Amino acid sequence: MYNVVIIGSGCAGLTAAIYAARANLKPLVLDGHEPGGQLSLTTHVENFPGFPDGIMGPELIENMRKQAQKFGAEFKSGAVTEVDVSKRPFRVTAGKDSYETQALIVAAGASARLLGIKGEKELIGHGVSTCATCDGYFFRGKPIAVVGGGDSAMEEANFLSRYASRVYLIHRRKEFRASKIMIDRAKKNEEIEFVTPFVVEEILAPNGLVEGARLRNTETKETRQLELQGLFVAIGHDPNSMVFKGKLEMDANGYLLAKHGSLTNIPGVFVAGDVQDHRYRQAVTAAGSGCMAAIDAEKFLEEHKG
Ligand code: NAP
Repeated sequence: MYNVVIIGSGCAGLTAAIYAARANLKPLVLDGHEPGGQLSLTTHVENFPGFPDGIMGPELIENMRKQAQKFGAEFKSGAVTEVDVSKRPFRVTAGKDSYETQALIVAAGASARLLGIKGEKELIGHGVSTCATCDGYFFRGKPIAVVGGGDSAMEEANFLSRYASRVYLIHRRKEFRASKIMIDRAKKNEEIEFVTPFVVEEILAPNGLVEGARLRNTETKETRQLELQGLFVAIGHDPNSMVFKGKLEMDANGYLLAKHGSLTNIPGVFVAGDVQDHRYRQAVTAAGSGCMAAIDAEKFLEEHKG
């Protein structure tokens, strides 16, 4: 029987683990299918306070993990397959293993959608990115492309135009899902060239770094090649909330709903990080919400002793 089980070992889960462990709650952290979360997929992090020279994403995560372990957090690998939050203690199942806990912190994160083309995953950190705020700075004076037609793609294209020599906005349709104001802003920006209706068929990286992309027009089937050093995939995120469907309140896109900080519709279940945040999605905001969830869990356990 645990006091607190934390689902997810990204920035939010690990910060929750540090706080819960320091409160002597001996939390158990379940790693999930992407141990370390999205930070472990990025390279240099320059906007996490406290690191004036920046820090590599995987190193930052490793430091947080060690910090949590130092105070007594326990870690187990495994992705959660089932959760019973109908009564306390709650039951969390990860494959063959099952755990009982008095309080639960869900920090399962969100996964950036990928295009699903060859080499894409391996090239993350080598020219392919799913986070303009994280990686834009590395593409100063370089030609890059953003893929997507939603608000994220428009926002990222605008943001990246500050750095890049040229920004191609590649979208599979001529119409955009993004809001009018965001489209107008991107269209007014002379650094951005709209490339529609095109899909990326192949990422060209003969030497292990992105050098270009081969595109195909979805209407005429014509192909076109672009010289690029960066490819930003901005086609949305999926919160890792499937196992909570019908159990915890979520919005239409599957993001868990947090009330009054980290509380959910089930007393004793708390949420933190990207699984409940489609707006900010930053390491520092995830860490902050992890801290909030741990403090809320501690208070809950104090009030429900014995
Ligand atoms: P989104 O609205 O779901 O848009 C995803 C885009 O990616 C769509 O244009 C979609 O094309 C395209 N796409 C999806 N799968 C694809 C694939 N396999 N290949 C090529 N293209 C693909 O996602 P989002 O832009 O991340 O926005 C998510 C939510 O956050 C939205 O509610 C949005 O309004 C909000 N948001 C708001 C702001 C803001 O207001 N500042 C900023 C960012 C996000 P189709 O259109 O053809 O389906």
